[in-house]
Amino acid sequence: MARVAFIGLGNMGGGMAANLAKAGHDVRAFDLSQDALDRAKKAGCLPVADAAEAIEGAEAIITMLPAGKHVAQVYADAVFGKAAPGAILIDCSTIDVATARQLASDAQARGLEAVDAPVSGGIAAANGGTLTFMVGGTESGFAAAQPFLEDMGKAVIHAGASGAGQAVKMCNNLILAGTMIATCEGFALAEKLGLDPQVFYDISSKATGQSWSMTSYCPLPGVGPESPADRDYQGGFAAALMLKDLRLAMAAAAEAGANLPLGTRSTELYEAFAAEHGSLDFSAIIKTAQASGQG
Ligand code: NAD
Repeated sequence: MARVAFIGLGNMGGGMAANLAKAGHDVRAFDLSQDALDRAKKAGCLPVADAAEAIEGAEAIITMLPAGKHVAQVYADAVFGKAAPGAILIDCSTIDVATARQLASDAQARGLEAVDAPVSGGIAAANGGTLTFMVGGTESGFAAAQPFLEDMGKAVIHAGASGAGQAVKMCNNLILAGTMIATCEGFALAEKLGLDPQVFYDISSKATGQSWSMTSYCPLPGVGPESPADRDYQGGFAAALMLKDLRLAMAAAAEAGANLPLGTRSTELYEAFAAEHGSLDFSAIIKTAQASGQG
């Protein structure tokens, strides 16, 4: 078992670090939040005072931070100065492709290997160790990262060269935003048509309206398996983070000349929603569908 540095112990990183500790690794954990450090300690990690202390002597350095600017900062301030020779740098955050590629090439210039390894599955999968990892990097980088990722996930897939993991992730989340909004609109209309939401769920979840957004992360409380909707939309995947991912996808689309009318509308809807409710789970956008057209 190895010494692992884990930086960013939020909704996702907390469960991921816990699973590495459960697998027997010596996990040195750091977050700016004391609450997150306390939870990591209870989960069997060793909380440390700063990122540099976590990184010193680690064989794998894993980051799970909000956005590209946070990852670039931690790499500049601590990772590049402190990483041991031969350490594998694994960024699991969802960030822009350009930053992911830049960090990999900056790492290479220092004789280190870095991969982008964003995840899919949400907090239930992070806690349960059943995430899907999409990895961008060299063959040797992928091979070095794979055993650590397997301790946190059910699928670890090499997507291609540096940045390819992030490219897959933004396309995946473009689909996710669309299916979540469509699911919310389906439930809102069903309610306005006088249907029992549970009956609608029982039928649509076995019909062609089914998606992960409906059957694994249902946006309506009391229907489907437990999800952030049952906790008043606290925790989960913040609407502000979904908006960040949609903006990444739309910027990439503009650069690639792709026409995404549904992506454009999804981004507008999350922009309006996150302006007021950015910290709520992204499935809370059902409030928009429930409110519109009333009266
Ligand atoms: P979060 O906001 O819950 O956690 C981020 C953590 O990073 C916080 O605890 C914060 O204190 C910490 N942090 C910020 N800057 C730091 C720094 N400089 N040093 C140390 N810690 C720092 O976010 P999350 O929901 O865990 O998401 C993390 C990443 O995973 C994001 O890029 C998100 O888009 C992606 N993601 C989230 C989900 C989900 O369901 N929540 C699913 C897939 C991917």
